[in-house]
Amino acid sequence: MIIDFHTHAFPKKISDCAIATLSSSCGNTAPQHTGTIESLVEKIKNCGCDKAVVLNIATNPKQQKNVNNYAISLLSNPDVVPFGSIHPDSDEAIDELYRLKEAGIKGIKLHPNYQNFFVDEERLFPIYEKAANLGLITVFHAGVDIGIPDPLYCTPQRLINILPIFKDTPVVAAHMGGYLLWKDVLNTLAGSKIYLDTSYSYSHLPPKWAKEIIKKHGADKILFGSDMPWSNTCDEIRFIESIGLSEVEMQQIFYKNATDILKI
Ligand SMILES: [Zn+2]
Repeated sequence: MIIDFHTHAFPKKISDCAIATLSSSCGNTAPQHTGTIESLVEKIKNCGCDKAVVLNIATNPKQQKNVNNYAISLLSNPDVVPFGSIHPDSDEAIDELYRLKEAGIKGIKLHPNYQNFFVDEERLFPIYEKAANLGLITVFHAGVDIGIPDPLYCTPQRLINILPIFKDTPVVAAHMGGYLLWKDVLNTLAGSKIYLDTSYSYSHLPPKWAKEIIKKHGADKILFGSDMPWSNTCDEIRFIESIGLSEVEMQQIFYKNATDILKI
């Protein structure tokens, strides 16, 4: 079994535009699916992957409700686990967390670069606390973002600063804890109480460093992810298989840790 913990899809009427805009801001990366949920599911299944966690992001406060309506609409699809999103500038952020929880959503994605906040800013703490109290998993984009590289909104040290707020509710740092900040991840974040997803590692993260981070951090806190459509699930699976991990570690990474925290 394989669960891809980091994917994206868009509502049909905006998918073409969303894919084109995001692709061009990231240097014309070739998207690996058309943008719709049907295309995403077809592609991950072709790679032998069973389920995808679909991470949605509200890039302005006005979008928050629509983005979450889309996430909630995906709950009826057995092949995906949709996450909602909160915008820190929304007056309805806390109410929206309750709405997501009541609908059956399991987590939220926050993207500091696209939502313009540093992860350890105090104004975010009530959102973190409420998400944690409701048992919602919080996923952060971590490290450099190719589309918005500066400033560094989410570094390993800033993540360390906020981890105690979440108590026992899982927190996930995408891109192995900090895209392009991997030495910092190894020295600062590895071994702490946070999950790291492996998304967008293929041909970006040196396999030797991936192995060092996983060994120091513990394979029981690593989640397989691709970042579809910005990377391909098949390539990312092959990357994890190439690192030189044990069968047990690979099972943890490919699905056991995910089924554990998603309670599926
Ligand atoms: Zn992503």
